[in-house]
Amino acid sequence: MSTIKLLRTSSHNALRTSRGWCRHAASRPRYDYDLVVLGGGSAGLACAKEAAGCGARVLCFDYVKPTPVGTKWGIGGTCVNVGCIPKKLMHQASLLGEAVHEAVAYGWNVDDKNLRPDWRKLVRSVQNHIKSVNWVTRVDLRDKKVEYVNSMGSFRDSHTIEYVASTSPGAESRQVTSEYVVVAVGGRPRYPDIPGAVELGITSDDIFSYEREPGRTLVVGAGYVGLECACFLKGLGYEPTVMVRSIVLRGFDRQMSDLLAAMMTERGIPFLGTTIPKAVERQADGRLLVRYRNTTTQADGSDVFDTVLWAIGRKGLIEELNLEAAGVRTQDDKIVVDAAEATSVPHIFAVGDIIFGRPELTPVAILAGRLLARRLFAGATQLMDYDDVATTVFTPLEYSCVGMSEETAIALRGADNIEVFHGYYKPTEFFIPQKSVRHCYLKAVAEVSGDQKILGLHYIGPVAGEVIQGFAAALKSGLTVKTLLNTVGIHPTTAEEFTRLSITKRSGRDPTPASCCS
Ligand code: FAD
Ligand code: NDP
Repeated sequence: MSTIKLLRTSSHNALRTSRGWCRHAASRPRYDYDLVVLGGGSAGLACAKEAAGCGARVLCFDYVKPTPVGTKWGIGGTCVNVGCIPKKLMHQASLLGEAVHEAVAYGWNVDDKNLRPDWRKLVRSVQNHIKSVNWVTRVDLRDKKVEYVNSMGSFRDSHTIEYVASTSPGAESRQVTSEYVVVAVGGRPRYPDIPGAVELGITSDDIFSYEREPGRTLVVGAGYVGLECACFLKGLGYEPTVMVRSIVLRGFDRQMSDLLAAMMTERGIPFLGTTIPKAVERQADGRLLVRYRNTTTQADGSDVFDTVLWAIGRKGLIEELNLEAAGVRTQDDKIVVDAAEATSVPHIFAVGDIIFGRPELTPVAILAGRLLARRLFAGATQLMDYDDVATTVFTPLEYSCVGMSEETAIALRGADNIEVFHGYYKPTEFFIPQKSVRHCYLKAVAEVSGDQKILGLHYIGPVAGEVIQGFAAALKSGLTVKTLLNTVGIHPTTAEEFTRLSITKRSGRDPTPASCCS
């Protein structure tokens, strides 16, 4: 007798077992697929592959509409093609430029005094890497037995997806049915509703494959994308200016965000504060005249740039899904889901950036997609935990954090119940090239009583993401100040500074260190 535990008999005569999904040899499925996934990005691919691994019959649609200037890309979604990966590569290229100059201080003979990056070569290298990832992704889907269709899918009804199989004019629309549908269509950059925005501006969807050197660039928006793009452009020798509508990095710890902006200013990146764009016009010399208004002083101004990059947030791609036909509830341009990522229609789910009110980050999208597949096809019950997700802003000194900001902790627990440990520090490797240590700072936001459970960790400095990742696991496991201070550091690193955090803000003591080793 089989030892496989029968968990449920599905509506199409397949058996869901504790090992996965298996089908009666003689049964005729009610639907064409067990799972159709709309969107082949981080969330959709993770979900599709995991579901296929559980034995489900899976079809994944992925289609990218070209940007207004014609940029398009392959399978893999935002992260691989126009997000995390090209961004990290450009960030690295920009850090290397700085490292070359530091190398001279360390005794390297770098002959060429006119060191400049070759933008086109960089773009080519980045794009070659992306194409190799696209190819590996397709092979992986084939190996994992996920069917892939390079078309835009939309709902005909709650179990039926409609698509056009070919881009040739007059191509007929086709339909497939599925027991479950997962919507993982992500988002795309917004454009402001002002003259010239769409025709003359570009976004993060274009910059990583941009043929032309960006030159003097106006970056509109001071969120993750705006700050990261401005910083790598500066590091590569261009002249970015950041236009800030209200505050830098809304939603992050205020002190850390202001410190990050001060670090960027020190590195020669100007900010146009409380300013909004009004119009973009092409001048006779081909450059772009941007008209703007300062919303504090109401003064109008203008300046000329070679490139205007909109980084004003992203909108969810729900418009072409025909969600009304399926009865899926939305809010703004996102899909509303419950704790199990179920939409208002129980057999339709959503994961990744398209979900309303959840972090828009790749590892979140991937884990949520995988867990959902396991719940659907392997009898698992684990839900995605969206709390205490660590994140990094990839500026030259990076900012990484996990858990609560100081403001959130105070708002939720009251100032008297919060202790903030903080300190500036001096990375050893900064001494010889005499790099500024003014913005190397970290803090732990903790409960004031008992062993002082840590609620949030914040760090500005080199390789912040690498530093915070491990602490994120510790924080999720209930890290306390007592444990942190009893942890022996690894010397000389910057991560060890967390184990030396002895000064509280309440004490009023100077958080500047006298030396690196005391
Ligand atoms: P996506 O990756 O956007 O995938 C959705 C896919 O579905 C796309 O290919 C889309 O074209 C396709 N699609 C849309 N509609 C349909 C349809 N109807 N039918 C078929 N296909 C459709 N996150 C990090 O964690 N770290 C970072 O460093 C980081 N850097 C970033 C840098 C930039 C510039 C940007 C823009 C984002 C960055 N992110 C980063 C965020 C990260 O890229 C996203 O959170 C992640 O890609 C979301 O994955 P997703 O699967 O939800 O959506
Ligand atoms: P954000 O929402 O983070 O930032 C948008 C910025 O644009 C804000 O400064 C906002 O100002 C401003 N803005 C919005 N509308 C206008 C307007 N009409 N005119 C002028 N300014 C405007 O979006 P991003 O595109 O930067 O990032 C999107 C998401 O992608 C992030 O939330 C993040 O999750 C993900 N991402 C992650 C990265 C990482 O992990 N390193 C890197 C890049 C992206 P205001 O504050 O006033 O609203």
